[in-house]
Amino acid sequence: MSFHPDILCPFCGLGCGDIGIDRDPSGIAPRPSGCPQADRLFRRSLAVPTDARLGGAAISMDDAIAEAVRLLEASCAPLIAGLAADVDGVLAALSLAERVGATVDHERSDALFRNLSVLRRFGWSVTTLAELRNRCDLVLVVGPDPAAAFPRLWERWVVPEPAFVAGKGRSVVFLGGDPLPETVRCLGGRTETNGMDTGAETDLATLVGRLRTALAGRSRDGDPMAASMAALAARLRSARYAVVVWAAGLFEGPQPDLIVEGLVRLIRTVDGTTRCAGLPLSGADNLIGANQACGWRTGFPLRTGFDGGGPLHDPDRFDWRRRLRDADVTLWISAFRPETPPLATGGSIIMLAPPETTVAREPALFIPVGTPGIDHPGDVFRADSVVALHAGALIDRGLPSVAEVIGRMLAALGRTARTREVAGC
Ligand code: SF4
Repeated sequence: MSFHPDILCPFCGLGCGDIGIDRDPSGIAPRPSGCPQADRLFRRSLAVPTDARLGGAAISMDDAIAEAVRLLEASCAPLIAGLAADVDGVLAALSLAERVGATVDHERSDALFRNLSVLRRFGWSVTTLAELRNRCDLVLVVGPDPAAAFPRLWERWVVPEPAFVAGKGRSVVFLGGDPLPETVRCLGGRTETNGMDTGAETDLATLVGRLRTALAGRSRDGDPMAASMAALAARLRSARYAVVVWAAGLFEGPQPDLIVEGLVRLIRTVDGTTRCAGLPLSGADNLIGANQACGWRTGFPLRTGFDGGGPLHDPDRFDWRRRLRDADVTLWISAFRPETPPLATGGSIIMLAPPETTVAREPALFIPVGTPGIDHPGDVFRADSVVALHAGALIDRGLPSVAEVIGRMLAALGRTARTREVAGC
């Protein structure tokens, strides 16, 4: 048995670098980290099937690559989605998309686009996790507890005393959302709630609107929350550095981007008199890295298609859930976790995923790949978009990376850029 301390975790986007991993002849297992995702996803067995499968039957990797290329070359409406890979894997997928005329999107891009649609319209002022930990004296958490998706957010980035706020601790105020869950217990006496206990309207967009009204020095007649909102507005204005945290992927309701818009406007108002910034969190499975790579390569964010030759971005039309319905071939990439969402499509699925993956319906072609940070090194982006993290390899199970598998597909595709005419579409 050997022990590996301080391993970087690539999963949710917080970039915890303190995971302890035990290794023995059967595989690797994490020491309890306080994070259910890390405790589950770092547990990997050395004895896994490494064969590719065609229609459920084992085939060689050479044959799997040839079959993938055959399917993609014959496709009239290919989709490359999931896109859960390290940066090299995403860049390879973008090269493939360009060659075969595919649309690209990440499985979790919904959360990203709830924020990007507002950024596009209004611009915003956002900060980093390091600023949150070191400088912020008031955290305003809006909506459901982000620790549901980012399990150690409070422990790693809020519980430590701020390094540059002399003599003052920090407070954490929750606005809206459900009653506080267990995940905030580590915050202890720092925690306060607002908008959960008045019995008044607690719709999140309405709460944000009420707080903006209070910041403007106004209130509605008879509003039972007027006093608490005025008090919260005063605290925001008197904070030295307030950070507004939200996880848009957890917002419920028909127009979550309106909540984000309200928050961006609220931050701008407070930032006029003291320091205030947002921290939108939306980065599991290297979502942020995939979006960055798409920007470097195409000049556009995710949800970009190459079916017209050059890249074309459309956040609605190229949402993978919409595109899946019409795709005749989908290359689904999920290198981080051994599970996939339901993929309702009449087309063929080529799946690149860890060998432990359980599938509801056997894909046309399954190619096992390694997980970045476990089977091979890889770069992933932190959820605040500013830091690229390098994760090392822990075990060798003979599993190729996504970049290696797609690199072989690209080599087999030949030199000619694909056009719809080539495929006979
Ligand atoms: S909080 Fe996120 S980065 Fe940290 S250990 Fe858990 S899954 Fe990994």
